[in-house]
Amino acid sequence: MVKIPNTFGLTVTAKRLIKWPSQQALFKPDESFIIVGAGSNLLFVDAEFDGQLIQLEQDEFIIEQTASDYLVTLGAGLNWHQTVKRLIDAGIDGLENLALIPGTVGAAPVQNIGAYGVEFSQLCESVTGYNLQTQQVETLNNQQCQFAYRESVFKKQLKDKFIITQVTLRLTKNWQANLSYGPLAELNNPTAIQIFEQVCLIRQSKLPDPAKLPNAGSFFKNPVVEASVFNQLIKQDPNIPNYPQADGKVKLAAGYLIDKAGLKGAVYQNAKVHQQQALVLVNQGGSCGVEIANLAAMVRQTVLALFKVKLNPEVRFIGKQGEVDSAQFLDLLIAENKK
Ligand SMILES: Cc1cc2nc3c(=O)[nH]c(=O)nc-3n(C[C@H](O)[C@H](O)[C@H](O)COP(=O)(O)OP(=O)(O)OC[C@H]3O[C@@H](n4cnc5c(N)ncnc54)[C@H](O)[C@@H]3O)c2cc1C
Repeated sequence: MVKIPNTFGLTVTAKRLIKWPSQQALFKPDESFIIVGAGSNLLFVDAEFDGQLIQLEQDEFIIEQTASDYLVTLGAGLNWHQTVKRLIDAGIDGLENLALIPGTVGAAPVQNIGAYGVEFSQLCESVTGYNLQTQQVETLNNQQCQFAYRESVFKKQLKDKFIITQVTLRLTKNWQANLSYGPLAELNNPTAIQIFEQVCLIRQSKLPDPAKLPNAGSFFKNPVVEASVFNQLIKQDPNIPNYPQADGKVKLAAGYLIDKAGLKGAVYQNAKVHQQQALVLVNQGGSCGVEIANLAAMVRQTVLALFKVKLNPEVRFIGKQGEVDSAQFLDLLIAENKK
């Protein structure tokens, strides 16, 4: 039995650990498996996972360049934040808005990490990995990764089929600050280092540190609703933050909806909606995964009743046999709690 790392502070085990690629030969294709980086986007709803735990070892850090760009190839096992810092220290800018996001390089393409106006997809040249179906190492270009908001091909067609081993980023030498996110706009002609520091400061002041108060960051995705739904909502709440999308739909702020539903500080046994950050659910100590899921179910149900908007988890739920559909899992809990 091996412990599975996770930032919710849950004690969870897997049958055995496969370090990839050095122990690749020990991998049993017929047995279930889970790839885990830091476990900072996972909620384990059972105390054990009945399969193999794959952890990436690769730590390549290769910088190539063309006249206009740096092409940076990074091993999947590298820590994301340390890598951002290392590149900025080397004078290679572009990742500063994505500073202090927990986890590994290999997980970054999976949900297309994003923060402060920048998404991984904007900087990604290609993603390389081992395709378990073809048993070949394959490289997908940016388009093939099918990136969208918190989405990629690795959560869809290639889910449980592709072990990401390397990512290659394209970072322009003609760097320009991205200050589109409100709190960064006050910076005057900043360098990438100043943005990096500011992002770290803001994040440290706003988000609970999982090492002190276990959590997995934003628990829910920001919902994207049809224009007709939004037109009703704005009548109900003229101040509702909204971000019109290219396809006519409207993105809403999940945290605002949770806050307006009066759920900041709400508890379910040892799980709590963070007092300052409504989008973050925390384990106050001693929670099991299902307690946290029950709190999430309560949040989903209350927001639905008030705004007619369904919040879907960003965090992925893992059960004894593997990943479970998180929205369905919450609906089952809601139905059980009504009995
Ligand atoms: C305090 C806090 C703040 C956060 N802020 C943000 C934020 O601002 N923006 C944001 O986007 N996210 C944020 N997150 C979520 C999290 O940091 C990201 O999702 C991160 O990319 C997860 O990395 P990880 O290594 O922990 O992945 P894990 O949680 O271990 O895994 C996540 C998923 O990726 C898969 N996976 C991991 N590695 C590989 C691989 N090599 N090959 C194939 N699949 C793989 C796993 O199977 C799993 O499905 C935050 C989390 C916390 C705790």
